[in-house]
Amino acid sequence: GQCAAVCPTAAISIRSNVSVVWDAIEDKNIRVVAQVAPAVRIAVGDHFQIPKGENSFAKLVEALRIMGFDQIYDTNFAADLTVMEESAEFAARLEKGEKLPLFTSCCPGWVKYCENKYPEFAENISTCRSPQGMFSAVIKEYYKESDEKEGKKTVVVSIMPCTAKKGEILRKDNFTDGRQDTDYVLTTTEVIRMIKQMGIQFDKISGESADMPFALASGGGAIFGTTGGVTEAVLRRLSPNKDYQTLRDISFTGVRGEEGIKETVVDYQGREVKIAVVNGLANAGKLLDRIKAGEVTYDFVEVMACKRGCIMGGGQPGPAGPRTKQRRMEGIYKVDKSSNIKSSDENPAVVALYQDFLKGKEHRLLHRNLK
Ligand code: SF4
Repeated sequence: GQCAAVCPTAAISIRSNVSVVWDAIEDKNIRVVAQVAPAVRIAVGDHFQIPKGENSFAKLVEALRIMGFDQIYDTNFAADLTVMEESAEFAARLEKGEKLPLFTSCCPGWVKYCENKYPEFAENISTCRSPQGMFSAVIKEYYKESDEKEGKKTVVVSIMPCTAKKGEILRKDNFTDGRQDTDYVLTTTEVIRMIKQMGIQFDKISGESADMPFALASGGGAIFGTTGGVTEAVLRRLSPNKDYQTLRDISFTGVRGEEGIKETVVDYQGREVKIAVVNGLANAGKLLDRIKAGEVTYDFVEVMACKRGCIMGGGQPGPAGPRTKQRRMEGIYKVDKSSNIKSSDENPAVVALYQDFLKGKEHRLLHRNLK
């Protein structure tokens, strides 16, 4: 349109999904289900006089309920599913010595970058869908029968810190039997706009909990929101020991912190496993060049496109100076600290899902369909 002539960023302008979501909420034949990503909760309060980095998950759940969402679930739960699948995939690749290093796949900005700029590494990317992708597939499957019985349609709205997530949901390799699982992505800033449109006094509401059976999450799921979190969660999962000291030792392996490229070596079943944790795409490019040149080798590489990870995603409210960035990172680790469950495999809701509902469907619902 008119903007294109003057605005160089028009080509990458992001479509807002606010009005379509309101329409879905108003339609009584639609079951509107929300999932809320790990990094949203520590930034959504920014525009409502909530201290920076404070966990506003409960308030957000209540706000979504007031808006008219039918079910509200926690994406941290699905991050636990991702850890389960990705750990298994990593262990299998280590055993076979195949397609190493394993690259994480939960950041669509990174996945696209790798596919476009370093296609020779495409097979290294984990086949796991992101937590968003896994969760929406599970939710659609979960409501399939009720939808048929009640003559309803389930629409999944995911609330994400990320604009690239809007693109991820359209990828055919993320579909289940040809079906797009996530219907709409709202960024944190879009959900803030909806809270304001609804006239909710966000700082005054007391908050409530998300809905079972997808409300329980481990601290490992929570830390997906910041750089190093996926790696730490995978290490917790793969550790035979989950006592306090062991988990503390894992947190000190060097996976935490804002540094662009972090490296660590851990022991896994008597072998040395080399890990790199990267944030920022320029850093990812540097690392891939070094791998290509044979200067370094790794077994596991986590990449987040945004500096510091999703806490600083393109869908988060700004501006965020150094103090806010720090508070957001602390906020994520605080969610982990206050969680009764630390490792994804100890999450009873995850265990229950694998025992029953997910049996035989793991690949169809949780992995990308690659030809
Ligand atoms: Fe999105 Fe950035 Fe998080 Fe990647 S790191 S998933 S681009 S918010």
